[in-house]
Amino acid sequence: MKVPFLDLKAQYSQIKTEIQTIVNDVLESTSFILGKYVQEFEERFAQAHNVKHCVGLSSGTDGNHMALWALGIGPGDEVIIPANTFIATAWGATLCGAKPVFVDCHPESYNIDPEKVEKAITSKTKAIVAVHLYGQPADMDMLKEIANKYGLYLVEDAAQAHLAEYKGQKVGGLGVCASFSFYPGKNLGAYGEAGAVTTNDDELAEKFRMIRDHGSVKKYTHVLLGHNYRMEAIQGAVLMVKLKYLEKWTQERRRVASKYKELLSDLEAIKLPQEMPYAKHVYHLFVIQVNSRADKRQEIRDKLQAFLNKNGIGTGLHYPIPLHLQPCFKELGYRKGDFPVAEQLSESGLSLPIYPELTDEQIEYVAEKIREFFKTKC
Ligand SMILES: *Cc1c(COP(=O)(O)O)cnc(C)c1O
Repeated sequence: MKVPFLDLKAQYSQIKTEIQTIVNDVLESTSFILGKYVQEFEERFAQAHNVKHCVGLSSGTDGNHMALWALGIGPGDEVIIPANTFIATAWGATLCGAKPVFVDCHPESYNIDPEKVEKAITSKTKAIVAVHLYGQPADMDMLKEIANKYGLYLVEDAAQAHLAEYKGQKVGGLGVCASFSFYPGKNLGAYGEAGAVTTNDDELAEKFRMIRDHGSVKKYTHVLLGHNYRMEAIQGAVLMVKLKYLEKWTQERRRVASKYKELLSDLEAIKLPQEMPYAKHVYHLFVIQVNSRADKRQEIRDKLQAFLNKNGIGTGLHYPIPLHLQPCFKELGYRKGDFPVAEQLSESGLSLPIYPELTDEQIEYVAEKIREFFKTKC
């Protein structure tokens, strides 16, 4: 049996006709940037997240950058960022000329550990970026309390967390603003590059609209410094079609996660992802950890990955090198041992296939092969 890590074709084949009709409509219109579908998508996406404004962009990375740019973050400022996340979270700060300051993650939620945030705050700190990693919201109440106490902006990176909930509230409006990614493999994926920012702040939304379009309100009048961060019309159209199914697809992801948990919860050799009591997890990723001695865990994880691969099961690593150990941040002076939880996750974590179209048979096969590995190979 084959279980690829990601299977975008399975989803495309279900919505092919709708997609082709709407893409053809864009082609016939020859209006390729922003336009009516992007606008309609923005409205519906904002509505789905119970937030006032959504501004469609060229990517989630651009959203990370624009969120901090619009808030006035610049050289000399520090921005608090979890050590375990995708690199793009940190680009937001560095592209503004600010310094990313890393904080370890929580051993159960895998999100930034609020208890450790306060120690990282200095007189230069301007913002905290809370990543809702793997699809589970960060502990926003605790982070909000700290942000309020020190007068910091609390920004969400919701690239992996479309429709996720914190204490019954959708992500996207839980901080001052949020960025989303519609990279094809994300829970809501475009057919190319795309992203968005959301906010409940009218003024900030206006600024986002201007910055994404060269700082202009009117063509060739540039009020602010800006850039070209506009969403393409074809991506807006594709996303509009796909958004209708997102709730259903999210439920299916949760089904896959419960099935894995049901089949693997008694296996002591691994640790399963936890859904925190305050969270509705949308399982962008399903990251297990091998339980093992520190000096053995990476070797066992790598062997498990190779074994699954040999049996037709694709897996991923999210992420094999935490941000504080990335070569590009060498000059920040972090060392191995600084963030033990993030480091453990990077060495022992393995992402199993998870997407709405995964069948029970496929999930059972993956679980069976994991059991077989620990019984016979290790
Ligand atoms: C995917 C991702 C991004 C970047 O989004 P792109 O659309 O690929 O630029 C940013 N942050 C996180 C946490 C992501 O997973």
